[in-house]
Amino acid sequence: MTTAAMLNGRATAPIESLLQEQRIFAPPAEFTATARLKSQAEYERLYRQSMDQPEQFWREMSDRLHWSEKPTVMCDWSHPPFARWFTGGKINASYNCLDRHINHGLGDKPALLWEGEPGDRKVLTYRQLHREVCRMANVLKAQGVKTGDRVAIYMPMIPEAAVAMLACARIGAVHTVVFGGFAAEALADRINDAKAVAVITADGGWRRGKIVELKKNVDAALAKTPTVQRCLVVRRTGQSLAMTAGRDSWYHDLVAGVSDVCPAEPLDSEHPLFILYTSGTTGKPKGVVHTTAGYLLGALLTCEYVFDLKDKDVYWCTADIGWVTGHSYTVYGPLACGATTLLYEGAPNFPDMDRFWDLIERYHVSVFYTAPTAIRAFVKWGEKYPQRHDLSSLRLLGTVGEPINPEAWTWYHRVIGGRRCPIVDTWWQTETGSIMCTPLPGITATKPGSCAVPFFGVDLAVVDRQGRELPPNVGGFLVIRRPWPSMLRTLYGDDERFKQQYWREIEPFYFTGDGARRDADGYFWVMGRVDDVVNVAGHRLGTMEVESAMVAHPKVAEAAVVGRPDELKGQALAAFVTLKAGAEPDESLRQELKAWVGKEIGAIARPDEVRFTEALPKTRSGKIMRRLLRDIAAGKETVGDTSTLEDYSVLAALRQDRE
Ligand code: ATP
Ligand code: MG
Repeated sequence: MTTAAMLNGRATAPIESLLQEQRIFAPPAEFTATARLKSQAEYERLYRQSMDQPEQFWREMSDRLHWSEKPTVMCDWSHPPFARWFTGGKINASYNCLDRHINHGLGDKPALLWEGEPGDRKVLTYRQLHREVCRMANVLKAQGVKTGDRVAIYMPMIPEAAVAMLACARIGAVHTVVFGGFAAEALADRINDAKAVAVITADGGWRRGKIVELKKNVDAALAKTPTVQRCLVVRRTGQSLAMTAGRDSWYHDLVAGVSDVCPAEPLDSEHPLFILYTSGTTGKPKGVVHTTAGYLLGALLTCEYVFDLKDKDVYWCTADIGWVTGHSYTVYGPLACGATTLLYEGAPNFPDMDRFWDLIERYHVSVFYTAPTAIRAFVKWGEKYPQRHDLSSLRLLGTVGEPINPEAWTWYHRVIGGRRCPIVDTWWQTETGSIMCTPLPGITATKPGSCAVPFFGVDLAVVDRQGRELPPNVGGFLVIRRPWPSMLRTLYGDDERFKQQYWREIEPFYFTGDGARRDADGYFWVMGRVDDVVNVAGHRLGTMEVESAMVAHPKVAEAAVVGRPDELKGQALAAFVTLKAGAEPDESLRQELKAWVGKEIGAIARPDEVRFTEALPKTRSGKIMRRLLRDIAAGKETVGDTSTLEDYSVLAALRQDRE
């Protein structure tokens, strides 16, 4: 079903809610004692101010940034949906992430801690990172890259990846980072869409003990990208490569002897900082444009309030820089707050399934941010891996990317957080730039599966087709009703698609594409994407609740539920299930699971079909691609856009196993 079809449905309550999670976890007193925000009253005061006096609120907040020229108008919404924030201001993101801290005496503080998959390590202090950024910025300039030019970054998770982003920001070049796991075709598409003039890459990177051939993919991509003039290659793996004369250069050759002085370019607040393509969970990726000041302020404030980052924290966000989470919460946010951020190159299961826990123990990570897909993998692998390590340095955990099933949440809380760490379940999107809805860790009592309350300045609501707010616990469309600083400004080169995609469905609001309900305490519960809503005998069900009921079964590791056509009911539920280590995928378990869901949340949600599978189709960012499962469940021969699929063999395997 398309979003439009869904929205045109008759119901005023577009999604029914079946699951009521009752558990609640108050923030530990020790955490609250030192938290940046300590009381609900403080949150409410700030939130109210952000709603009632936004100009004043944002003027005060904008003082957290360093400006070459202060802005005069905070928000210009005179041409919706095209917002302008902090107009009149001049600013540089790289300056705010580096120079500002050095000027405040943090030059010798570690900015980046890095570990390669083979175990090699590097620490860059703020001063050292600043030096590397200035040098790369000077190299880019010498290669003819100018303010406003687009530069594609296709790198492994090595310090030079962050250096490249900040070097672009320093001179006002617009970066577009392409995840290093994408093949040549996907890279070429993104380069062409962004019309990039240069590519920064590496000879390769390490993943599960093997070399990822980045430069070979670049060579294949650049055969189809007329705009690219220059390709800079960082040496990582050291293998020998074919270099194309006149186009390719080794970065270490270019940077030798280059000055480490490069003043940061004062840029307009609205100067584009980057273009980033979405994950492609729901279709063809969109080239989301973010600008400088508003984006940076969003990343900075959420790092301070949501991750409660303080001077002594060692912070680790496991997201690749190819995703927005890597942009906002590995690079820009933590560096804008002067924090220490860990970068790890490789896989979580190399050399063994305890690599993350080993890293946390050795680096004394105190704040850890990862995704439900990773947590479900950890659950599947078993508790013995985290138990090998001392995780007592952790004080706060976070999750982002998909709705987290309450069972996975409680596992994370108990096994990784030792029951002492609050969990921030943060809802946001590539388009929103920074966290929009989240617990505040020192004050919000958390409910597993809920992303809690809106962040400052975020007018989040659950509404019906006409944009009317729905009563508590009625599922509907999740919208944002006013502009916010870190919002996307457009889709690159396609203002019309930007309007269509986000602003036409529930005018005049920004429509997120997600379904949600808000409970009587004002907590938001994201119920999945409205595209994925299933209509069973006139009942509209979100996928998240049925999946969570499945995952609550002790043998289930992961589940994806989709609708398939059914003559009687309109749609029938098909569940794709992966099991925990040791569980047998047999007929009796199949029947048991159907009955289990019926008992947990009601007969209407009882799946008609349960298929066991080794793996679910996911995007490269680890999100379940239900649209592909829908096609498979319907027995279709061909499926939709698979360019962002992580592993093609999963699809073939899924077709074979039928009930
Ligand atoms: P595309 O837009 O190309 O289909 P995508 O939506 O997966 O891809 P992202 O911007 O990476 O691309 O993901 C944002 C989406 O992820 C949200 O709209 C929501 O569906 C989901 N999401 C992110 N965080 C959470 C969360 N904490 N709880 C529930 N859902 C979440
Ligand atoms: Mg999306």
